[in-house]
Amino acid sequence: MKLCLPRIEISLSKIQENARLLCNFYGQKGISLMGVSKAVLGEPAIAQAMIAGGVQFIADSRIENIKRMRQAGISAQLVLLRTAPSQAEAIVKNVDISLNTELKTLEKLSYHAKDQGKIHKVIIMVELGDLREGVLPCDLVQFVRKTLLLPNIKVTGIGCNLACYGGVKPNKRNMNMLSELVNIVQSELGIKLEIVSGGNSANYEWANSGQSIGEINNLRIGESILLGCETVGRQAIPGLHQHTFQLVAEVIEAKEKASLPFGEICQDAFGDIPKFKDRGIRQRSIVALGRQDVLTAGLKSERSLEILGASSDHIILDSENHPLQIGDEVNFGLDYGGLLSAMTSPFVGKEFVGRQRVVAPIIPAPIGVELN
Ligand SMILES: *Cc1c(COP(=O)(O)O)cnc(C)c1O
Repeated sequence: MKLCLPRIEISLSKIQENARLLCNFYGQKGISLMGVSKAVLGEPAIAQAMIAGGVQFIADSRIENIKRMRQAGISAQLVLLRTAPSQAEAIVKNVDISLNTELKTLEKLSYHAKDQGKIHKVIIMVELGDLREGVLPCDLVQFVRKTLLLPNIKVTGIGCNLACYGGVKPNKRNMNMLSELVNIVQSELGIKLEIVSGGNSANYEWANSGQSIGEINNLRIGESILLGCETVGRQAIPGLHQHTFQLVAEVIEAKEKASLPFGEICQDAFGDIPKFKDRGIRQRSIVALGRQDVLTAGLKSERSLEILGASSDHIILDSENHPLQIGDEVNFGLDYGGLLSAMTSPFVGKEFVGRQRVVAPIIPAPIGVELN
């Protein structure tokens, strides 16, 4: 079978293994995992690998991805990480649990849950310093009290999210704060919260430090499962696979050229004035991959191949130390941004290695078209 180029090669067995090791590690501490699928667009085969590895929930930020997994028959509980009032009807229809921070959205969810004859479960997110989503701690009890009054809504948990926008590290202090808030909400309102979701892949160091985990019994984990690292310092987690994804592209030009452009210098394709170092004549190779396929800063090349730069459709490599020929395939590793962008590009084929299943690139749907 002829494989597409460029393509992203995905090892489902490595993803499953990562999920299994993390479920064991966190499970021993009484922490269940939600496998977060947003970086892979809710790819059902990847969600299935996470479930086979032991995750009890699959969480995604996009309702389109949740629908995709629902339609593929994914059996785990599906969690929506980001809600919007305009999507309330679809959320109630497709999602088991959603994360929320606004009463207006909760009111709409309640309205549609009643309309559809369902109970919709929600986790209320608290702001603990990262300054992305979250109800302020001082407003939390009142917020939950109001939410409890909404028909057909069940407050199933409280959560927080750090290290995403503000780069705030989960530590003893903010994690204890979450546990304290949970205790206050439970005692003041006389309820028992099933889920206390303490964060994401950045919580590894905190969980591994041996200190008390307090009331926290759940984490939402994407990057650690997909790329095998924690996200406070992007250190590899011992025993996990880091080479779960490879981006493969084709060499379309390989020539000896000067390393300094010649002629009058103006702005490049992205409005920057480029600067170069003169290293003499070098072998330079162009691969058919560019910014429309991947966040090129998120690519990791073999050490002997240096990424010199990229435009929309071309990446230029210094291949002097690893001479290439036209038609050769070049492999790149990916960081989270690289993975997210390559999975999102319609020009990149998605291929599962170790199994004979190739998904051809999809032609982009016009913006605004309902993905049903
Ligand atoms: C993306 C996201 C996660 C997962 O983050 P990772 O760093 O990939 O583990 C968890 N929670 C929320 C709310 C998110 O948006």
